Amino acid sequence: MWYNNILETIGNTPLVKLNKVTDGIKATVLAKIETNNPGNSIKDRMALKMIEDAEQAGFLKPGGTIIEGTSGNTGMGLAIAAVIKGYKCIFTTTDKQSKEKVDALRAFGAEVIVCPTNVEPEDPRSYYSVSSRLQREVPNSWKANQYDNLSNSMANYEQTGPEIWEQTNGKVTHLVAGVGTGGTLSGAGKYLKEQNPNIKIWGIDTYGSVFKKYKETGIFDKNEIYPYITEGIGEDFLPQNVDFSVIDHFEKVTDKDAALMTREIARKEGIFAGNSCGSVVAGLLQMKDQLKEDDLVVVIFHDHGTRYLGKMYNDDWLRERGFLKDEKLTAKSILQN
Ligand code: PMP
Repeated sequence: MWYNNILETIGNTPLVKLNKVTDGIKATVLAKIETNNPGNSIKDRMALKMIEDAEQAGFLKPGGTIIEGTSGNTGMGLAIAAVIKGYKCIFTTTDKQSKEKVDALRAFGAEVIVCPTNVEPEDPRSYYSVSSRLQREVPNSWKANQYDNLSNSMANYEQTGPEIWEQTNGKVTHLVAGVGTGGTLSGAGKYLKEQNPNIKIWGIDTYGSVFKKYKETGIFDKNEIYPYITEGIGEDFLPQNVDFSVIDHFEKVTDKDAALMTREIARKEGIFAGNSCGSVVAGLLQMKDQLKEDDLVVVIFHDHGTRYLGKMYNDDWLRERGFLKDEKLTAKSILQN
């Protein structure tokens, strides 16, 4: 038995029980390991769906160029599909993203333009503005627009949601995931709520992002916006893929808690997880009083640890940010003293 190309291996990712990092949580917690996708993230699903829908609608034509502002994972999914389908890719990203992510996109032949992080989305230098300008100026190009392109949520409605429902025999009680574009949680959550309206859908947000306040007050508060370190989740605007009617609650997690928990997941569960996996588990621990013994929680593990080797998996990086609290005696520190 074989697959005809790598795109056919997307999806059907395993659910793995978390045994140690969830200490103190009464419920059973299962992680959906999206790193098992060929681009090592959940974004392979929506990238392929966005491309297929654009082909069908006639927006993306043979030999065309795919343009997108991406923090890396969506770019990876688009780049892989572009290789198989014969498209070119130009991505804009921010200087906050890890170098590993940018290098990985270039490995698939994509062109990557790195833009400044700390400018308003409307600023002509922002990664949103630069990608829109490229779309206007590059002939035969199509901008995927993952934030407002509803094929993103639809991919998770059609795949991620049904997989979770089947893998848990319909026993899932909570779905918890980091929210960036909103596609993962809104799509999978909508499907699950259609099967059982009692399922709770919790979004993990970051300090520096607008989602939680907007959900709770209906106010888009610019004072909530400031630079943060966590990658992949939180936003300074409201993407159309965030369906606030599906998501019951947003929980904010600090950069430090997310970074340290990401490392714990590798060391205690043997799962080499990306930054937002730490956010999700840390957020769930903050919510533990709301969980009962017979609850079955599914958390989404969006991407892989290799993309963060120079960040939270690097002690110097953590130390520079004051995140490393109890320094342990290591062979290196003994030799230095
Ligand atoms: N975690 C990581 C690492 C991501 O790249 C993303 C996508 N921005 C998310 C979480 C959030 O997923 P979504 O965009 O579907 O809300």
